[in-house]
Amino acid sequence: IFDEYYIKSLVRPIQDWPKPGVTFRDITPVYLSPKAQRMVADSLIQRYVETEITHIGALDARGFLLGSVLAYELNKPLVLFRKQGKLPSDTLQQAYDIEYGQAVLEVHKDAIPAGASVLLLDDLIATGGTLCAAASLVKALQATIYEAAAIIDLPDLGGSQRLQDLGIPTYTLCAF
Ligand code: IMP
Repeated sequence: IFDEYYIKSLVRPIQDWPKPGVTFRDITPVYLSPKAQRMVADSLIQRYVETEITHIGALDARGFLLGSVLAYELNKPLVLFRKQGKLPSDTLQQAYDIEYGQAVLEVHKDAIPAGASVLLLDDLIATGGTLCAAASLVKALQATIYEAAAIIDLPDLGGSQRLQDLGIPTYTLCAF
């Protein structure tokens, strides 16, 4: 069974990183614990098994860790959403705001067929900008988002609310 307090105890706060005033939530200790890895993966597998999801969409880079295990266990195609310049074939691109300036997320145009039902996965939701960009790409390919899921929500930054306001259901395993 999922133990939220155990998982949260393994998320390490790093003060003033990557810049002064920011507390970065470091999930690498979660992945150093096989028990925690299993808890996170099993709870998501249990949530999404026997649903209408057709594709797993994983966000560069820590979303890949969840995406790979979910796609394997649910026996679904794995779609990689990557930062600009990493995907070699024809891509769709979506710009999104980061703290200073903009970044671009890309997906291969042929990775998601029209009508697909996509589960989007990342490690953490802060402002929601990254998952919103992925959601725009899914919609541009005439597919729908089943849900956007992450291990951690930072609700004070408003991202999960922003996603829900756009009609994108969100699910997170714990919050800070
Ligand atoms: P957002 O786009 O503002 O929601 O930021 C979420 C994205 O930035 C995710 O891809 C995260 O991996 C990354 N991110 C932002 N803040 C943190 C943090 O405190 N810990 C780990 N990842 C973070």
